[in-house]
Amino acid sequence: MTNTYFLLFPSCVPVNGTKVSIIMDLDKGTYLEIPNLLHDILSIDLQRFTIHEIMKKFDHQYDQGIKEYFQFLVDNQYGFYTKDPKPFRKPEDIFYSPYKIISSVLAINTTTNYDLPEVLKQLDRLSCQLLQIRIYDPYDMDKLFNSLSPLKGSSIKICEVYVCYYSLISEEQLITICKEYPNVIIVVHTSKEKKQINISDEFNKKIVFTGEQVHANTKEVYDPSLFTISHSMYYESRHFNSGLHRKVCIDTDGSIKNYLSHTKVYGNIKENKISEIITKPKFQERYFITNDQIEKCKSCQFRYMCVSNSDIIKKNGKYFKKHTCNMDF
Ligand code: SF4
Repeated sequence: MTNTYFLLFPSCVPVNGTKVSIIMDLDKGTYLEIPNLLHDILSIDLQRFTIHEIMKKFDHQYDQGIKEYFQFLVDNQYGFYTKDPKPFRKPEDIFYSPYKIISSVLAINTTTNYDLPEVLKQLDRLSCQLLQIRIYDPYDMDKLFNSLSPLKGSSIKICEVYVCYYSLISEEQLITICKEYPNVIIVVHTSKEKKQINISDEFNKKIVFTGEQVHANTKEVYDPSLFTISHSMYYESRHFNSGLHRKVCIDTDGSIKNYLSHTKVYGNIKENKISEIITKPKFQERYFITNDQIEKCKSCQFRYMCVSNSDIIKKNGKYFKKHTCNMDF
């Protein structure tokens, strides 16, 4: 062990929390819970100090624990031993995305009268990647079907459409929409029955029927199983607000916001272009408030994978989430 170094794989990142810490595996999309003391050990510059030198730093109090934990991490493919750590460089801590808008949420109810096909065209021009269309009430599904045509060949890779069970639409029509639009995923909410219809085994595509209701006051669900662990998410959340960065949302009345539940309105889609609103410094203000700057979140081990869309408030020079999660750390 005298000349041996222990290194984490570049895709394995330790993140400290108040009570426990984790190692995120950005390649596998998983995480491992670890004690805070191990996080402190892993936060030492592992390329500069041999295992023996690390043990010495802790006055040889934890020699056995360090040996066993490092072996556990090697056995579980989080790290490896080496005699020459120099060639192993840490990845650059930068986030780059060519997309002007990464994600968008549109809300629709029976009174909505904005031009959905035009909105889809605008989002495509802004290279939006992920879209969610939430239709709260029973809706004319022929109208929806006809409105989706701009999705064909568009930048939008995934468009999740939430439709109300009580809309006049047959299962055959839903299947037709899914087959005609490979990027569309349909979730039927407020359903009397819970079931799934398989569309494609190859792409694991299904129509999901859920009893959950989707409405204007639907609360965000915080659960580590719903968080996103990936390289882009990690680096984005180190530099930007992972829930709000390059996101634009349009409310049932056409109001353009950072997120549907926010009160601040920046324009209306019936009068303004999305491209004109999203370049306003005020609209972009929340992009730059990372979880590392927000009280509670800054000491949460999930801060680089949590996609909370909550609005952010500033009090006495400190940032807080308006709708804080109920996670107890
Ligand atoms: S909202 Fe903040 S505290 Fe709650 S899980 Fe997300 S990052 Fe952690």
